[in-house]
Formats: sequence, structure tokens, C-alpha cells
Amino acid sequence: MTLSHDVYALPTFAALDSYAVLTGRRRGTSIQLDETYFTGQLWALRNLDTDSDFEHRTERLEDSRRAYDDIHVAIDELTEQALWETSQRFREQLQAIPEISYLTRNVPGRCFVVPEWMRTGNRLHYGARVYLFGDEDPPDPEAVLRENIESIVNESFGTFERYQGQLHGYPDCCIDYYQDRTPDSPSPEWRSVEPFTDRIRDAALGQGPAMSIDDVVSTFLDREDGYAFFAREFFPESGCETAMAKGRSIYEELSSALPESLVRDYFRLNFGTNYLVARAVHSGRDRRPSPGELGREHLLWYAPPREALAVPRYT
Ligand SMILES: [Zn+2]
Repeated sequence: MTLSHDVYALPTFAALDSYAVLTGRRRGTSIQLDETYFTGQLWALRNLDTDSDFEHRTERLEDSRRAYDDIHVAIDELTEQALWETSQRFREQLQAIPEISYLTRNVPGRCFVVPEWMRTGNRLHYGARVYLFGDEDPPDPEAVLRENIESIVNESFGTFERYQGQLHGYPDCCIDYYQDRTPDSPSPEWRSVEPFTDRIRDAALGQGPAMSIDDVVSTFLDREDGYAFFAREFFPESGCETAMAKGRSIYEELSSALPESLVRDYFRLNFGTNYLVARAVHSGRDRRPSPGELGREHLLWYAPPREALAVPRYT
């Protein structure tokens, strides 16, 4: 199987995630719909050295970002029914965003958007997530939403986190590991990336296209446990054989269709992203990495695969 042209509708990082799903190596994948999703792609499209015309695509992203920003969600009471009704309206608004209707129409497999609720103390937060599954046994969007709402009302967010991990095809053992948090010991995020922190050059972080991923994360897949980093924001337990084996099979599947230099960067960028997330958790902040923080390849991965594959590094 080669990369279907349909997957080319996605930015490169999501196209590779989806490829692992569509070839049956992972159950599913998702993209959090946020400012990063729009700004990363807009930046990449405007700064690519290419003859392709991205005017239409750029306009759609601009319009979509505006449409997303214009959605205001308010909820009066924290009951299952109120959350359900608000979610239905919110979901309809999300489906009307040009980028979302484009993705759900064009991406192969089962692609849908759902609202996502989170609760910290007495505060309720909301966002949106685009899921992608293969054609075999995908969950219904309503089922995902119901699990989420129940976890909010019952204050059992861990149950939803576990369900979500399973939807993403993460090994159960690593989900258990991730949920084992105590205030007295380092976070699971930090323990997961810790064995590789000697590969990171902190001074090269956050300098955008001036740096390459080579400057930020030196050699990585020389260690077998590096293969465990098969997805962004999946935190494998250090030394987990199941995660390594799964990552290995994803590496091989991707390498059979794509240049190995691209697949190696995929694992490095996954790890680099996890490192930034782990560092933010470690210092008590909640911040997602911004596009380009890990160097120019990190930005390039927001471009369509066709453009990424045209750069000398990946040819
Ligand atoms: Zn594991």
C-alpha cells in the first residue's frame, strides 16, 4: 500500500498518524482542534519554497480559524442533559467549519469531530477533537461524547482517559502507567522521556527554522526503546516491550511506503513533542508545544505531505 492521495488532505504529521491507522497498526488517532492546528499550517503554507498555489487552502484555513473562534459555548448547569444538549449544538457548529467538512468528506476511513469537555476543580473547559479510525469497527461519535460527558458528571475523568487511550491504540499497560500519579514522585510524562533527556539540546529549542531537528534531538532510534514513541502525546512506560513492538511495526509499515529519513524524523518529533509536554507538566504549566519549537522540520510537518516529501532531506 502506498500513501493514498486522500491522506494527502491532512498535514504531514496527521497523514502519518492516519497511515498507521488505515494499515491496521493502531486503532485510531486524533487531532486536537486548536490554534496550533490552524497557525502551524498557515505558517508552513506561506513560507514554503514551492510553485504550488495554496491560495484556496490558505483561505479555507483562515475562514475555519475565524469560524472556530466565533463559536461560544455556555452551559448553565452541570447535568448530563445540559451537557448533552449543548454538545449537540456545539457539534453542529463544528461540522459547519469549512476545514472540518473538508476533512470528514475527504479523509478515508471514519473521520468525525466531537466536542471535548474537561474539568479542573470547579471549572469546565471545552475544546474539539477530530478522530480518525479505520473502516473496521469504528466507534460512533455519540459513544465518544457520552463517555466524556459521563466522566464529567461523575467526576471520573480517568475512566474517559482510559477509553480515549484505547481508541488511540495505546497498550493497556502504558495507560495504567500513565494514570499512576502521586504528588510525591515525578509525573509519568517525565519518567517516560527521562531516559532520553541526554539527547536533547535545550539551547536549540524554540528557535524555529534557524535550527533543524538534528540540532534539537541528536541520534534517537539507535536505542530500541526509542521505537516506543510511535505517537505524539503517548507516554510509554520506560522499557515497555509492548510499546516497543507496536512502534517497531508502525516504523516498518511507514518505511515500506515512505522515505526512511521521514519516518525517523516522525519518531524524533514525537519524542521531542513529548519532551516539551513533560517539561511543561514538570514545571506545573499546561502548554502545548508551538509549531517550529523543535526546528524547521517541525514546521514543515504542518505542510501537506506532497510538499514535505519534496524537500531534499526526504528525497
Ligand atoms: Zn506498556
